[in-house]
Amino acid sequence: MNHNELDQLRHRLDDVNLQILELVNLRAAIVKQIGHIKNNQGMKRFDPVREREMLDHLIQHNNGPFDNSTIEHIFKEIFKAGLELIEDDHRKELLVSRKRKPENTVIDIKGEKVGDGATHYVMGPCAVESYDQVREVAKAVKANGIKLFRGGAFKPRTSPYDFQGLGLEGLKILRQVADEFDLAVVSEIVNPAHIETALNYVDVIQIGARNMQNFELLKAAGEVDKPVLLKRGLSATISEFINAAEYIISRGNGNIILCERGIRTYETATRNTLDISAVPILKQETHLPVMVDVTHSTGRRDLLIPTAKAALAIGADGIMAEVHPDPAVALSDSRQQMDIEMFENFLQELSKYTSSIG
Ligand code: PEP
Ligand code: MN
Repeated sequence: MNHNELDQLRHRLDDVNLQILELVNLRAAIVKQIGHIKNNQGMKRFDPVREREMLDHLIQHNNGPFDNSTIEHIFKEIFKAGLELIEDDHRKELLVSRKRKPENTVIDIKGEKVGDGATHYVMGPCAVESYDQVREVAKAVKANGIKLFRGGAFKPRTSPYDFQGLGLEGLKILRQVADEFDLAVVSEIVNPAHIETALNYVDVIQIGARNMQNFELLKAAGEVDKPVLLKRGLSATISEFINAAEYIISRGNGNIILCERGIRTYETATRNTLDISAVPILKQETHLPVMVDVTHSTGRRDLLIPTAKAALAIGADGIMAEVHPDPAVALSDSRQQMDIEMFENFLQELSKYTSSIG
């Protein structure tokens, strides 16, 4: 008998569930019609005054057993679901997303096709210090068949008393040396007002970790026809990183290379914590090429080779690392730059794992 009663109640509950289901879908259909009308009239979809009226109306009629705050909560969820239903799909799907564009973006930088499936290196000193210093590294970079040559002219330093870079003079040195060896220049720009000038000297505009959310800089980089290498912010989530790239592409420039360079965690054994799983996530979520900077993520010479191997194994399109003729006397990052001999050994070790097939 008792058992029978339970069964009956369960049947009633199933019926009520189906009624609620039918009603929430009926509600959704009406919301869609309203959305359509609002769209035609150019009206905003979300109307907080109207929502408040609906909630007040429900509370007036609420006889329990649910209390008013629970009823508000349940109906807020229903309202939210309705609003999401009529949200513009285009706005939800980012221009950098793979859903928008399934095929990989391949960026041609002086013949180097980043994103083509082969491994690409970006090598060079942390900072431009002098013509001779830059030339010595460029010569080794060229001799090892690498095209993308990095060097910082504008250095965003943590302390204002540290070496800030040679600025425009540094860009001129990079261009001169790169032309001598037929290399492409990758160099950081920190000020939106410098972008136009930089176009004369660089082949890739680097936007550094400290500027990943400098939205004016992102917009300025989005308005020019020059590839951008965008580094992940020190404490940026992957979603914030992707949105930073969206700033650039939404202004018209889709030639963006994403670069994972380690994030700040509680770990102190490395300078930053290399978020290696960011690589396949970024590859899945976006159509952009993804590189890994092993120098700034680890801050340790002894970890450059193993982390670079991991990056390649997990699907990175390229590796960035710093090389200096005499790291001990480098004006920045002296503890982690490789000398020329280490650099050659680094490449040799990695050549066993690199892909040359596009
Ligand atoms: C750099 O690559 O020169 C640099 C400053 O790196 P990050 O912005 O990743 O710290
Ligand atoms: Mn550096």
